[in-house]
Amino acid sequence: MTASFNFSFAGKVAFVTGAANGIGRATARAFAKAGASVAVVDVSESGATAVADEIEGAGGKALAIRCDVSKNADVEAALAQTVEQFGGVDIAFNNAGIEQGQIKLAELSEDDFDRLTAIDLKGVFLCMKHQIPLMKQRGGGTIVNTSSGAGVVGIPGQAGYVAVKHGVIGMSRSAALEYIADGIRVNAICPGIIETPMITDRVSGGTAEGQQKMVEQEPIGRMGKPEEIAAAVLFICSDAGGFMVGHAMVVDGGQTAGLSG
Ligand code: NAD
Repeated sequence: MTASFNFSFAGKVAFVTGAANGIGRATARAFAKAGASVAVVDVSESGATAVADEIEGAGGKALAIRCDVSKNADVEAALAQTVEQFGGVDIAFNNAGIEQGQIKLAELSEDDFDRLTAIDLKGVFLCMKHQIPLMKQRGGGTIVNTSSGAGVVGIPGQAGYVAVKHGVIGMSRSAALEYIADGIRVNAICPGIIETPMITDRVSGGTAEGQQKMVEQEPIGRMGKPEEIAAAVLFICSDAGGFMVGHAMVVDGGQTAGLSG
């Protein structure tokens, strides 16, 4: 059997959250470059606008939308705006997320745990909850949710983040089984250490020494580029990824290769 695959997203509408920075920004740009109309969704209005302007400046189609993914009304409104502007939603990359400080479980505050859960887990839930009916109307769609290497292994000092990122995979697998009969493919992506503001400015402490410590966790000997995660997301959403359902794709330079089952 031979197969030819279409990596063009011309005529498709992609909804990308956390799109003002890092992985979301690279993926929004990649979808636009591949011909999709892109909803650039972020809690930072100025950040979303800057990325949308950048895409439009390069000849793509983009709409900046301010939205806090942990708020039901925001998510509903963002999707309604996308439908109004572009006519529907075919692809969703539910990627907005925050990190946890390096802190043991008993010292992690209830507020910090609630915040992690609200954005990294409930945010994915709310997005899928409102995207799925829209995709059903279109006769199908593709959803990728951002988990992490922390979604497939335990990490000391990261119990809250590990919990929500495992949750993203479980929720993605269940939704995948619930909606594949409707033509909606749901998968998750698990990045390793990626060179984004989350890592270079915050998790590493913003120092060269801190960044070197992060690199040391990577068997490949470097951080990943946001574009390398974007490429994997586009693959999953393309025809070439058409048989991927309920999968958690690890793209991590080998970070968890010796650890995960
Ligand atoms: P980043 O901090 O560089 O970008 C995250 C974006 O999400 C920011 O633009 C931020 O404004 C936005 N955001 C935060 N809270 C939001 C909310 N409530 N609603 C809408 N947008 C919100 O982070 P990144 O490294 O690009 O991370 C993207 C995703 O990838 C996150 O889910 C993160 O947990 C995950 N991840 C990152 C890495 C890494 O090494 N960078 C590794 C594994 C997983």
